[in-house]
Amino acid sequence: MSIDLLLKRGVLPDGTTADIAISGDRIAAIEPSIEAEAGETIDISGNLVSPPFIDPHFHMDATLSYGLPRINRSGTLLEGIGLWGELKPLLTEEAVIDRALRYCDWAVSMGLLAIRSHVDTSDDHAMTGVRGLLAVREQVRPYLDLQLVAFPQDGFYRAPKARENTLAALDMGVDIVGGIPHFERTMADGRASVSELCEIAAKRGLMVDMHCDETDDPMSRHIEQLAFEAQRLGLQGRVAGSHLTSMHSMDNYYVSKLLPLMAEAKVAAIPNPLINITIQGRHDTYPKRRGLTRVPEMLDHGIKVAWGQDCVLDPWYPLGTADMLDVAFMGLHVAQMTSPAAMRKCFDMVTTETAKIMGLTDLGLEKGKRASLVVLDAGDPVEAIRLRPDRLLVMSHGKIVSRRAQQTSALSLPGRPAAVSRRFDPPN
Ligand SMILES: [Zn+2]
Repeated sequence: MSIDLLLKRGVLPDGTTADIAISGDRIAAIEPSIEAEAGETIDISGNLVSPPFIDPHFHMDATLSYGLPRINRSGTLLEGIGLWGELKPLLTEEAVIDRALRYCDWAVSMGLLAIRSHVDTSDDHAMTGVRGLLAVREQVRPYLDLQLVAFPQDGFYRAPKARENTLAALDMGVDIVGGIPHFERTMADGRASVSELCEIAAKRGLMVDMHCDETDDPMSRHIEQLAFEAQRLGLQGRVAGSHLTSMHSMDNYYVSKLLPLMAEAKVAAIPNPLINITIQGRHDTYPKRRGLTRVPEMLDHGIKVAWGQDCVLDPWYPLGTADMLDVAFMGLHVAQMTSPAAMRKCFDMVTTETAKIMGLTDLGLEKGKRASLVVLDAGDPVEAIRLRPDRLLVMSHGKIVSRRAQQTSALSLPGRPAAVSRRFDPPN
């Protein structure tokens, strides 16, 4: 076996120390100690090595457009959709591609190497984004997995050309079927849209990922129909409900029936904590709802859950960094997942759990899998969430795609050390 690169003494997410040998684009070995000749050897002693970060919910057609043509004054989902509607006619394929590639650069530097992005298919203007992101998907393929979801943002039935354009986008090679049932004109239309879109997915052998019940209305129950269709059409394990914020406000008795149905249908959940905490509850006075779906309860039912980022600098959200640890940090707080096991789970919900939901079976820190990984300036996954630290090294398909030197702050304080890092060794 010829080893191209040997990473020495990294800390794996389970706390063990290991050497990792890379051959070509594969992980050739992960063992407590590997003594072998290698093209290059890098000492990563004491630093966490993780599988790549993965974002299961994003909008790459809109990213980095903040302020175009104006900002969202109310902060609501509905004004965001309206604002995006003003921007869409102004889109050019070139500008979409330029912004998306710029975002992918940010992502790579943060060890974010797989992204599921929805792409608007509501009208002819939106198709500029479809064409742009299909080109971007090919361009970034050597270093970043980009899954695209056909997303009739203005309503599959409500927007006159959404149905036609959604089907056209799928014909053009968009990977996954999306939807937005809570934005259709009526509950009945919403329900019907879930059924028809799931039928389209089943017929084409595609996965489903719908914006579902992204509202504070406790009566928005399209997730029930999504679970029903997943089961009826044999789509178990291939359907995700994104947001599911109405569940925050639902009647507890109803939820006690709903969660087992989701588990039975193997429907995954993709909450987006940065956006949910910002956009939901805007019609409330006080107390003001958080709007995050019931994450710990879903996990208790065996439902797969992954944290998504949703937006970075776009009509819906004025911030964002492409750092999935920001997302896990916010999710942990809002869902009150503060036990050691729950905090650890939050890390998996931006790495390994996400890979399962997205069907990315080639990713993971195991012998034979693709050599894509991240080295972080942290000692373990929970410390990584606490610090949201520098990514010291990012590898994709066996190639180092980003590096950053370890930093400390130089201190000038009487009687105190000359430098400080905020890493923490728990007292014995
Ligand atoms: Zn979204």
